[in-house]
Amino acid sequence: MVKDIDIREEKQKEPAVSPTPTPAKIEKETNQNVISNDSVIEFRNVGKSYPGGVNALIDLTFSIKMGEFLSLVGPSGAGKSTLIKLLICEEKPTSGSIYVAGRDITRLKKKELPFYRRKVGVIFQDFKLLPKKTVFENVAFALEVSDIPDSEIQQKVPQIVELVGLTSRIKAFTEELSGGEKQRVSIARALVHNPKLLIADEPTGNLDPVTTWEIIDLLFKINQQGTIVMLATHDKEVVDTLNRRVVTVKEGRLVSDQAKGKYVL
Ligand code: ADP
Repeated sequence: MVKDIDIREEKQKEPAVSPTPTPAKIEKETNQNVISNDSVIEFRNVGKSYPGGVNALIDLTFSIKMGEFLSLVGPSGAGKSTLIKLLICEEKPTSGSIYVAGRDITRLKKKELPFYRRKVGVIFQDFKLLPKKTVFENVAFALEVSDIPDSEIQQKVPQIVELVGLTSRIKAFTEELSGGEKQRVSIARALVHNPKLLIADEPTGNLDPVTTWEIIDLLFKINQQGTIVMLATHDKEVVDTLNRRVVTVKEGRLVSDQAKGKYVL
């Protein structure tokens, strides 16, 4: 059983979330994990093989609860990007199911995908911002492509830009921004549709240690406002300092799932 939240619903009430989420009960070192009944996201026996015979993910079972902040770690080639691609429906699993808010997202119809993707924000190491556009325009673009009325865009963008601490740079072009500022813009853009889940794929890979922590603090702030944050990272210091749930994958398998985990490869 999972919480019955309609992922197609745009203006639903945000659920109350504890600022310090309860850590997952599951700590098994195998793929026989029990699905807890207050999960929002569930991977059930998920496998993904690519053409050519690579088994990128093998029998992956784990769940994520409302309000969690978890790190996803694993050596290069372990299957982290594949897991993320499955979660944003960029790839389909070869076997198993992935439930998000009660729906098996592997069965979503093509026309449902845009609505689903609005509920999942993603940020990347290389920011993926639109060049030659301002902070405002970058964030506004994510709303424009969803046919949001201009009046709403004018109102909403400054609010989100404020949330990420960039109000004074709202008219700046992306080329004029520091790495940390660029990542803030990409976070703002990922948040425009109030996603239930924010996936951060190596978000601090291009940042210095001080800026890294500013971005991690911002991710925490977003998490405390009720968004699940999944942080895929190679940054051992960040993971160890966070002292939060750590899911480790190796050679496509979930090898460890610790409520207060460390970066151990
Ligand atoms: P990670 O993000 O942990 O580095 P990936 O998910 O990118 O790992 O890759 C897992 C495995 O799947 C690797 O062996 C990789 O070479 C393979 N792989 C990833 N994408 C593809 C693809 N599109 N086609 C074939 N093999 C792929």
